[in-house]
Amino acid sequence: VNRSDVHYFGAGPAPLPTAVLERASQVLLNYKDKGIGLCEISHRSPDANDILADAKQALTTLLDIPDDYEILFLQSGGSGEFSATVYNLVSIWVEKKRAKIAEEVGDDKAEVLKRLRKAVDEELKLDYLVTGSWSLKASQEATRLVGAQHVNVALDARKANGGKFGTIPPESEWNLTPRKSGGGPALVYFCDNETVDGVEFPAFPHSLEGEDAPLVCADMSSNFISRKVDVPKYAVIFGGAQKNIGNTGIAIVILRKSLLPPASMPASPDLLRELNLPVGPIILDYPTIAKNNSLYNTLPIFDVWVASQVMTGLVNAYGVKRIGGQEEISNDKARQIYETLDRYPEIYRVVPDKAVRSRMNICFRVHGGDAEKEKAFLAGAEKRGLLGLKGHRSVGGIRASNYNAVSLSGAKSLVAYLEDYAKAA
Ligand code: PLP
Repeated sequence: VNRSDVHYFGAGPAPLPTAVLERASQVLLNYKDKGIGLCEISHRSPDANDILADAKQALTTLLDIPDDYEILFLQSGGSGEFSATVYNLVSIWVEKKRAKIAEEVGDDKAEVLKRLRKAVDEELKLDYLVTGSWSLKASQEATRLVGAQHVNVALDARKANGGKFGTIPPESEWNLTPRKSGGGPALVYFCDNETVDGVEFPAFPHSLEGEDAPLVCADMSSNFISRKVDVPKYAVIFGGAQKNIGNTGIAIVILRKSLLPPASMPASPDLLRELNLPVGPIILDYPTIAKNNSLYNTLPIFDVWVASQVMTGLVNAYGVKRIGGQEEISNDKARQIYETLDRYPEIYRVVPDKAVRSRMNICFRVHGGDAEKEKAFLAGAEKRGLLGLKGHRSVGGIRASNYNAVSLSGAKSLVAYLEDYAKAA
């Protein structure tokens, strides 16, 4: 079977542009005519530095990332960032609190510690908006690390929807930790696009904006560079590369520089231990990774190269229109698929609410979720070279992932199959 004979709608790892893979096969054997391949050269070589710089430049262009943001590459995967956000932002919260108390109390270390312990007990909160499986996992990781008493699930979208994900209730119903100058939650976390449940935030939540806005951490693993993002509204944006950006192996973090020293200092490991708070692994420590230009330890430079090629390709394709062009295409592909599904309500049922339908992961049921019929639907799709449409094992059904490398003609082939299947049913 040839690559050109199939369209792949898998949720991740996901398709990559064929031209990038062709170049990749060459650079694996011989990078820049050196006689050795890209996986064999040092991550500290000038070539590696150039690749890192190119990747940063392309991402900066695509998302219009301002100068006061840092871009980090880590091997953490998306899941590692569930932990990293907690370690790093709790540490900053604690150190800020300690410095403030020390200002009031002076040199009395025992008194500072006593008051700090009380502040941690009473005030340390991490807010999670749980709108699907991945934000649920992130909130569970926070609970595992710092304890349930510090985790505030400000929204559990299942509650208003019969125990299932698929909606985002109005912001007036969220139970956010009150913000206050120099205080408030250590972070507010959400997953911009829920890959398993097909739920995407239509826009940045209003209640996280404005004066004394909290530090917002967003998981964009499955909708990275698929639409414009107002980066200054976020403290941390992260995502695994393996869906919209590249191959498996790296995560990308876009981090507000004021969260790094000297503007924000982390708490010392000794202090965190005193307070029974977790000390994170060094490879998830943002200040360490930033200080070392993401090269604290061996970074898989080949993975960064692939990401750089994909992103540079998008920059070149859309030029000054930048991400605007990509957003239009993503929206157009998703619109065509959803419109077709909606045209045959007796055959197809889109799972999430219309207002929060993901443009990236289109989740639907066929014949009300009849297992045999869905199997037959998938088999028919495979016959036409439409692969990777099976829903996540936890929810079943059908999922068409519509990432950047799914072509318009791929989306149109799916639309044609949906039409033909519905007409023949
Ligand atoms: N976040 C989202 C939205 C995802 O879809 C995934 C994986 O599919 C992850 C996080 C976890 O990423 P990783 O497998 O790289 O840890």
